[in-house]
Amino acid sequence: MHLKPIIAANWKMNHGPTDARAFLQRFLAQAPRQHDRTLVFFPSALTFSAVMESVRERPDIWVGVQNVYSEAQGAYTGENSVLMARDAGARVALIGHSERRHVFGETDAATTKKCALVSQARLVPMLCVGETLAEREAGATAAVVERQLTAGIAELEDPSVATMMLAYEPVWAIGTGRTATPDDASDIHGVLRRALAARIGEKAAAGVPILYGGSVNRGNAATLLAAPEVDGLLVGGASLDPDAWSSIVRS
Ligand code: PEP
Repeated sequence: MHLKPIIAANWKMNHGPTDARAFLQRFLAQAPRQHDRTLVFFPSALTFSAVMESVRERPDIWVGVQNVYSEAQGAYTGENSVLMARDAGARVALIGHSERRHVFGETDAATTKKCALVSQARLVPMLCVGETLAEREAGATAAVVERQLTAGIAELEDPSVATMMLAYEPVWAIGTGRTATPDDASDIHGVLRRALAARIGEKAAAGVPILYGGSVNRGNAATLLAAPEVDGLLVGGASLDPDAWSSIVRS
């Protein structure tokens, strides 16, 4: 079971096994076992086993995959299976990350299938939602994230919805140095929480961690984390440096 807050590092296509081992050696020396939060690393699939080995003695650290294919196995050259992710020790899978949606054309329908597969494999889906700048400027933020959430949970049983995780990541904030204000993050997390409550009830919805992501760094992490409805952080660029990451983890 996770402990909130959840502080997650999305390494994207960075840090091969050699860099990851060096990173973790330095980071683990600065960050003793956490008793009031869960840390998650999302390394690339090629780096996954190096990270698993390095954090073997740390139950407070979960390792997850950045993506899985929408079929469980078969003739899909180059893809990663959720069953293999589970076998390798993954506990969580990112689904619908903005780069999957906007660079690789991942559709809402694909996120429906992926969340269902991840949950059937008894991993936790961490569904990412977020609006583009044009959608924000058109006043469509709430409608977009609700649509993405509805698709992600469409084929999940209620108990699986109650044990999933969400990440609100405005597309215009990812890797740009622009962040949502804590108030904006709280508002949209509130929209997501109410949509969850409509499906699984208020009590269960209150237990679903909703992380904020988008240009989080050591300067803004504590303020964002303190915002109402923000249960954790999903961090890209600033998670690549062990010193910056250590100070975010301590936020
Ligand atoms: C991300 O990719 O999930 C992310 C939030 O990236 P960054 O922190 O670099 O904006």
